[in-house]
Amino acid sequence: MKAGRRQFLLAAGLLPLFRPLSAAGERVVIIGGGWGGLSAASHLRRLAPELDVVLVDRQPAFTSFALSNRWLVDPAAGNLVRHDYARLAQTWGYRFVQASVEAIDRAQRVVTTATDRLPYDWLILSPGIRENFAAWQLTDPLAVAELRQRHSGAMLNAADLPLLKKRLAGFTGGDLLMTIPPAPYRCPPAPYERAMLIAWWLKTQNIRGKLVIIDPNPVMPAFKSILLERFKDQITYLDHAKVRQVDVARKTVSTDIDEIRFDEALLSPPQEAADLLWQAGLIRRDEGGQATGWGAQAGFDFRSPEDERVFIIGDAAGLVSPLFGLFPKTGHVANRMGAIVARQIAVRVTGKSVPVVLPESVCYVLSSVDPLEQMRIETTYRQRVDGFLMQQVKQIREPNPAGEDVAWAAGMYRDFLQP
Ligand SMILES: Cc1cc2nc3c(=O)[nH]c(=O)nc-3n(C[C@H](O)[C@H](O)[C@H](O)COP(=O)(O)OP(=O)(O)OC[C@H]3O[C@@H](n4cnc5c(N)ncnc54)[C@H](O)[C@@H]3O)c2cc1C
Repeated sequence: MKAGRRQFLLAAGLLPLFRPLSAAGERVVIIGGGWGGLSAASHLRRLAPELDVVLVDRQPAFTSFALSNRWLVDPAAGNLVRHDYARLAQTWGYRFVQASVEAIDRAQRVVTTATDRLPYDWLILSPGIRENFAAWQLTDPLAVAELRQRHSGAMLNAADLPLLKKRLAGFTGGDLLMTIPPAPYRCPPAPYERAMLIAWWLKTQNIRGKLVIIDPNPVMPAFKSILLERFKDQITYLDHAKVRQVDVARKTVSTDIDEIRFDEALLSPPQEAADLLWQAGLIRRDEGGQATGWGAQAGFDFRSPEDERVFIIGDAAGLVSPLFGLFPKTGHVANRMGAIVARQIAVRVTGKSVPVVLPESVCYVLSSVDPLEQMRIETTYRQRVDGFLMQQVKQIREPNPAGEDVAWAAGMYRDFLQP
């Protein structure tokens, strides 16, 4: 095998990298109790109960983004899903530490919080994303905090959704501005679903308001006619438009061409991997040495090329294939990554080899509540004969939706919330 190809396959996790040895009593520390971290924790308990599993998150509870767009505007939608970590830890038999991780010492294999030092044998990082307000010329922490408080698009933390719902309920007319982050960002169809449901809500509630969408990406073809034609009285759509500056006091957003005034806004700046990966030096650099903004990890086993004891999963993960780039940043993919990494670590305990498993993703997108209209986006992967990973995306219209989205979510939650 040629050295270059072997190097790529090794980096992609396709060639065996480590020898099995007994890992009983070893400790796995998982940072981030989102879809990725909770999946890794629950799968480790099932696959290797002899391991000491510690989950660390700065928040006291997990809140899910899934199905939240409908919840924002439809009083008949179910509740947000929220689970205390302490209770989850008890249910599954792992330990939970509520703390913000400040540093990772990979040489000593220790994670540091404000009050603790946690040694580890294996480290799983699933810290999600951070929002890059500096790209909008906002560097003052007080200005960023004010923007988040008054006009956050609530894409960072699902615990912010109740405040967004309250702000929307208080919108009685005028210009409601929404910015979509440049790709890649979490849950690619989510901002479009949110826009369609807000437009549906404005229309059916006879609110004399306009949703102004600033989108730096080309409009997603599947939603084009709904956004531009069906809701043409509710939506002004600016595609290929890039936000340059935001002035919260004057309630304006500047693009290359316009200055747009708003009465209420859902502002979501460009996204990147969470702070922790930057602090730990685990961000991927491109060939020119520039930080790509996303984690450096293999595409198949999610191991860091810097350190075989460290895995990076979930939305923080970066490039996986030169053919399509990154995995979609969905909870479904993060869940599958958590399970795959748990299997890698469990191999150390059992000594058995495991076949390569690839993630997949299913996303349900609503375009209207009454009548109910739904689309399913399925993303699958396969390995090409030359070792590269290929992606296939299918969009399927559900002609008569009957709760498939709720059933999908319940199935996912059984895997890591309620066994
Ligand atoms: C509006 C919206 C709708 C969505 N709908 C869907 C959907 O229907 N289906 C779907 O599959 N996906 C959906 N997603 C995407 C999904 O929510 C994300 O892909 C998923 O949350 C990613 O999981 P994660 O584990 O990578 O990160 P997160 O879920 O963000 O978890 C990261 C955790 O790490 C913690 N953390 C970070 N840094 C530290 C630190 N230094 N110390 C301690 N703790 C730390 C955070 O507190 C957080 O709890 C949606 C997203 C949005 C915004």
